Amino acid sequence: MYFRKELDMDSNFTGLKKILMKRRAKLLAALKARKSERTDLRHGDDIDQAESAYEQEMSYIFRGRESDEIKAINAALAKINKGTYGICDNCGEMIGMKRLEAMPFVKYCVDCQEEFEKKREFETVMATSSWDEDEGENEF
Ligand SMILES: [Zn+2]
Repeated sequence: MYFRKELDMDSNFTGLKKILMKRRAKLLAALKARKSERTDLRHGDDIDQAESAYEQEMSYIFRGRESDEIKAINAALAKINKGTYGICDNCGEMIGMKRLEAMPFVKYCVDCQEEFEKKREFETVMATSSWDEDEGENEF
C-alpha cells in the first residue's frame, strides 16, 4: 500500500515526537509564567477589583486554550507510543503526512475536519436564527 511505505520511513516518528515535546514544554512554561503573574497580582489588595477580575478572566481563557493544546499533544504522543498515530479519530483513515507535519497533533483527516467545520457553521446558524427547537436540552 502506498501510504504504508511513506510511514515506514520514520515509523517511530522520532522527529515529530521531538517537535511535540518541545511545543509542550513551551506551553507549560507559558502556563507557569502566567501562574506566577497571577500570584503577584494577589499581593496588591488595592488593585481595582474590576480590572483584576477581567485579567483573571483573560488569563483563564488563554490558559484554557493552552491546556487544550497540551491535551492534544499528550494524546498525539500517546498515539505515537501505541502505534496508532496518523489515523483519523473519526473514520480510521490515514491522515496525510503533509497534514501531520503542518499540524502534528491534529486528530482528524481533512475530510472529517471539513465535515465538522461545516456542521459547526450550520449549528451556529441554527442557534442564532431560531430558539424554537428544544436543541439546548443536552447543553448542560
Ligand atoms: Zn477522517
